[in-house]
Amino acid sequence: MMAAGAFAVGAIVGSFLNVCASRLPKGRSLWMPGSACPACASPIRWYDNIPVLSFLLLRGRCRDCAGRIAWRYPIVEMTTALLFAGAYLRIGWRADLVLALLFLCVLVVITAIDIEHQLIPDRVTLPGIVAGFAGSVATGRGSWSEPLVGILLGGGVFFVIILLSGGGMGGGDMKLGAMIGAFLGWKLLLPALFLAVFLGGVVAAALLAAGRKGRKDPIPFGPFLAFGAAVSLFWGGELCNGT
Ligand SMILES: [Zn+2]
Repeated sequence: MMAAGAFAVGAIVGSFLNVCASRLPKGRSLWMPGSACPACASPIRWYDNIPVLSFLLLRGRCRDCAGRIAWRYPIVEMTTALLFAGAYLRIGWRADLVLALLFLCVLVVITAIDIEHQLIPDRVTLPGIVAGFAGSVATGRGSWSEPLVGILLGGGVFFVIILLSGGGMGGGDMKLGAMIGAFLGWKLLLPALFLAVFLGGVVAAALLAAGRKGRKDPIPFGPFLAFGAAVSLFWGGELCNGT
């Protein structure tokens, strides 16, 4: 029952995360005006704004102009709903749940924006570093040194990569690394980084081999980092303890 509730709340929050993913890269306000069709500018009616369901009922098209609605909308809503239900089942009704949900929301927004724009906005990562640090200390999962070392390590790893590679990775990846360290602490940051590098390498190699991407094409790394961070949030403790 409660997990279904978390799923429903996640779907509604996911709908707001879509607004964030559309507007943050353009520097627009998240609160005003209400949502409108990007093709014909008609305001979205409340009954056409129901997460996932409206997309299915409208068959992915605007009611007014029949312009296509991006697949990102139902995917983000569904993903957020599943993550909320999963986090509730995994963590239970504790103070850390709020912090975990906030972290997952930030990761979803960053993934959506990085895939679409090859950009990780400072407006998300910098407040995220502060919120992650403050939240980790407040929920008392460890001492304050754990998220602090996480910030330094997560940012530092990418700082070194940027220095050595002269491109490929950007400052956005560095701040995202620091933010993940702030939320997870350095112990859970490590499996997140390993997973991201491993998966990123496999996917990049597959895209090169399939001829879908050239050697010089940028492949955003943020989504891999976000995926690694989410896996580490759910199962990192077990990975670290070897159980
Ligand atoms: Zn329209």
